[in-house]
Amino acid sequence: MENPRVFITREQIRQKVAELAERIRQDYVNKNPLLIGILKGSFVFLSDLIRLLDMPLEVDFIRMSSYGSGTESSGDVEVIQYLRTAIEGREILVVEDIVDTGLSLSSFLDRLRQEKPASIRLCALLDKPSRRKTPVHIDYPGFTIPDRFVVGYGLDFDEKYRYLPDICYLEEE
Ligand code: 5GP
Repeated sequence: MENPRVFITREQIRQKVAELAERIRQDYVNKNPLLIGILKGSFVFLSDLIRLLDMPLEVDFIRMSSYGSGTESSGDVEVIQYLRTAIEGREILVVEDIVDTGLSLSSFLDRLRQEKPASIRLCALLDKPSRRKTPVHIDYPGFTIPDRFVVGYGLDFDEKYRYLPDICYLEEE
């Protein structure tokens, strides 16, 4: 059985999300950005973030599959659900839970660029730079973490643990 151990507490997360929101708010004054959440993992982060942003914005989601039920990115990324909003000329802020190999994000960002938005920036709560296989620039980074699989605050292992309020490692018992 795996056993979640707290790694980043809910209070540390709260502070970090507030810092990120403050920076984003300053950069998007009067811009009505479209925030694009990458499902499923980013839904908790995105919902905390937008309530702290307290400014006009819109939200849409995309859903990608790459992990299946394991803990390793296959790199074989498929978009299962795409945007419902036209993005040409829009200010886009992509909101991601974690950037690991970067493979799923970089193909999605390339696809977005072809639709000619006014700008695209990326906010990611967690970053595992040691695992990167393709370069990804994170405009609003949260925590840099080592190469360990984490769950909680929206992140799952095999659909479990998304509800945990802290970000945890999985330890074998
Ligand atoms: P990438 O394409 O960057 O390798 O994969 C990014 C996606 O893989 C994230 O959006 C997330 O869904 C998943 N992922 C990467 N690392 C972890 C991790 O440590 N824990 C969990 N739960 N998902 C992860």
